Amino acid sequence: MTFRTRFAPSPTGPLHLGHAYSAILAHDMARAEGGAFLLRIDDLDQSRARPEWEELIYEDLRWLGLTWDGPVRRQSDHFDDYRAALATVAARGAVYPCRCSRADIDAAASAPQEGVPTYGPDGRIYPGTCRGRPYADRRPTDALRYDLTKANLDGPLSFTETGPAHAGTHTVTRDELLAHVGDPVLARPGMAASYHFSVVLDDAACGITHVIRGEDLFEATFLQSFLQQQLGLPAPIYHHHRLIRDAAGKRLAKRDDARAIRTYRDDGATPQDIRRMIGL
Ligand code: GLU
Repeated sequence: MTFRTRFAPSPTGPLHLGHAYSAILAHDMARAEGGAFLLRIDDLDQSRARPEWEELIYEDLRWLGLTWDGPVRRQSDHFDDYRAALATVAARGAVYPCRCSRADIDAAASAPQEGVPTYGPDGRIYPGTCRGRPYADRRPTDALRYDLTKANLDGPLSFTETGPAHAGTHTVTRDELLAHVGDPVLARPGMAASYHFSVVLDDAACGITHVIRGEDLFEATFLQSFLQQQLGLPAPIYHHHRLIRDAAGKRLAKRDDARAIRTYRDDGATPQDIRRMIGL
């Protein structure tokens, strides 16, 4: 079987130990399978992406001894592709412009019922206020949402997970998506696509067969599987790995510069030291 995986960092800060874990794991799995390891730069959010962070990604990965196959894919080179995919979905009448601010959504959803989730992988579960607004009435300041009630979905969707915490087959129905995710955003104002929409398009365009990434994105996979199915895209196999935490058990984030790979490099650590620190 072909095995094509990818590492997809956003160039919005230095790579830290958590990124190193993800990149090394995906790289080593691809090499062990005789497959391909691709590098994608997730610079969808042009207000936060910086060329110097992108440069540091290449430096850190090279220093870790990782090699990637083929050219790097940069999301900012594919904004037209995202817009074209959005137009295709919109032509089916399932996309509507949403004018709700975060505060509007909070207010409309402010009477939470016990046991009913209020947040999902796409943020606050959208109560559907703008559903029914014609797509033709969209303004540049609107977000564009997928109307789940109009989704072409007969039975439950499923995806395969091989990661340690949730290995197995997972299924989701339209009602579960409505309750746990809400109408997903396909594009935010001023952006060609949302994170979820761009990622499924990118993975399909690159022929990714295995998505290897952190546990924090496990819940998002239900939504991403839905988008794949609606777009008629192949479903990769998912592997969500454990997260690297600091001594206090807190998940590492970009702002944790102390854990930046560059800092360890500057302090004289070797790539072998990094592997040891993250248990690889
Ligand atoms: N770019 C995303 C991140 O930095 C990862 C996307 C993905 O692996 O699906 O967390």
